[in-house]
Amino acid sequence: MRIRAQVAMVMNLDKCIGCHTCSVTCKQTWTNREGTEYVWFNNVETKPGIGYPKHYEDQDRWHGGWKLDRKGRLVLRSGGRGKRLSRIFANPDLPSIDDYYEPATFDKDILVSAPGGLKDTPVKRPHSALTGEPMAVTWGANWEDSLGGQSGQDDPNLARMATKVKLEFEKTFMFHLPRICEHCLNPACVSACPSGAMYKREEDGIVLVDQDRCRGWRMCVSACPYKKVYVNHATGKAEKCTFCFPRIEAGQPTICSETCVGRLRYLGIVLYDEDAVLAAASVEDEKDLLEAQRAAFVDPYDPAVGEAGLPAEWIAAAQASPVWKLISEYRIALPLHPEYRTMPMVWYVPPLSPVLDATGAAGRDDTDADDIFHTIRDLRIPVEYLAELFTAGDVPVVTGVLMKLAAMRSYMRARTLDGTVAQELLDSIGMTAGQVEAMYRLLAIAKYDERYVVPAAHAKDAAALEAQAATHGDCPVGGSDEDFRRADGRRGLHLNPLRSRS
Ligand code: SF4
Ligand code: SF4
Repeated sequence: MRIRAQVAMVMNLDKCIGCHTCSVTCKQTWTNREGTEYVWFNNVETKPGIGYPKHYEDQDRWHGGWKLDRKGRLVLRSGGRGKRLSRIFANPDLPSIDDYYEPATFDKDILVSAPGGLKDTPVKRPHSALTGEPMAVTWGANWEDSLGGQSGQDDPNLARMATKVKLEFEKTFMFHLPRICEHCLNPACVSACPSGAMYKREEDGIVLVDQDRCRGWRMCVSACPYKKVYVNHATGKAEKCTFCFPRIEAGQPTICSETCVGRLRYLGIVLYDEDAVLAAASVEDEKDLLEAQRAAFVDPYDPAVGEAGLPAEWIAAAQASPVWKLISEYRIALPLHPEYRTMPMVWYVPPLSPVLDATGAAGRDDTDADDIFHTIRDLRIPVEYLAELFTAGDVPVVTGVLMKLAAMRSYMRARTLDGTVAQELLDSIGMTAGQVEAMYRLLAIAKYDERYVVPAAHAKDAAALEAQAATHGDCPVGGSDEDFRRADGRRGLHLNPLRSRS
């Protein structure tokens, strides 16, 4: 067993109000530059919907992520090394700017510099931020929010659902899905890179791009099934979410977490067995991937952790990790599209609100657990849809999570209003009163220090980090030179186990 630490995130979707503060603060921090106008390391999309870039979840079209070959071995969907190299100058699996959107800017100067006495009020017109030409704005990073679900019917997640469901779906519910790079345990982007420029940091699992090594082949863009690697069209190099590694190294949360209006993001350490990743990503049945990934995680209280050579501060952080609790203790967080087999490390608590809305609409009591349980069982559509997103279509797993959330709600209501302990509710979800109350605290009222448990970089790295800060005040996206050098030194220690196979 080789125990590694990974910085991971959980987002509670019930609390996302779609305000895009996270996207804007991320953009201000990382991609407010020429060449990255269309790039959103953090984006928030409306579901059901086709997402950003359009239809990114349709892997029959983009060939992202991993699949099992006929012998049951894990291979990149974008093909082996030979196939990828043969397409290096004409890659059909690359999204174009139209699949993202053409970024626009506005001639605001006209509002203050227009001469007086004009017959009509001056109007600022949109211009392409890429070409400078006048343009009509017809799409954006979350255009669907304004469409009120009109493009929901084209959502690739609906393709595997029954026709009746598809036709009824848009009347049923919508929610917001914030997305960043998943900093996967088995990153397809790292394995697909012919230059060795993409790498996963040994100490905290953050996936970065070495700007010096990147040759702009864009294989990472194709291979990432979440389409979370972008090309800077000014430099021709790949860039991606850095998990705000300079902040993480200082023990601070990512900027999207820090500024999240809904306080729905949780950051913490998850320990995992690096030797178990390949087997976990290779299980035959897609529906077994969730449990296989959970099984690859290591309980921070396991005695083996003490012998793994991890700093005591990191072990303490792993034990206090809200992410570990939500994923493995309360088991209410789920990974986005586990069927891509990249072992993503940004997980989600699925939203209960569509069920509550439907409970009320059906004339039932949305504060009564029995009524909510009935609705969850009756409500095929949102539950099946959530299963397509989070469990490779395994509906009972999503049902179980929603029932836990509903039971917690009713239990706490009864306890707060009447002082009663609804033991039958606890029995129905297999949790103790202490667990439900701790879960409620974490989901509802947890303070900053409980939501973000990030150890500062280990003391032995402190000198290097200080030197890095002094030398590289404006560090390039995806890692400073010093960071790259440190990673280069470790690359031999932390090669993706699948890399040589693809
Ligand atoms: S989500 Fe991030 S780590 Fe995973 S394959 Fe895509 S770019 Fe790589
Ligand atoms: S800042 Fe928080 S609440 Fe607002 S869109 Fe982002 S994740 Fe959702």
